[in-house]
Amino acid sequence: MADDTVKTMVCATCGSESVKSDAWAVWSVPDQKWELEGGPYQFSYCDDCDEECRVEERQEAR
Ligand SMILES: [Zn+2]
Repeated sequence: MADDTVKTMVCATCGSESVKSDAWAVWSVPDQKWELEGGPYQFSYCDDCDEECRVEERQEAR
């Protein structure tokens, strides 16, 4: 059943999916590239609100 849904991250204020999050990048020696640390991230920004926002997790049908 879990395969029938996808996770989306939306702005808690306006419901838009145009959200970005501030993330830490950590250098991975084995992979020789920057990797983003897992969320949830403390600072998120909504393009539609044009300001900092809280991000909500939603489950949607695929
Ligand atoms: Zn918003």
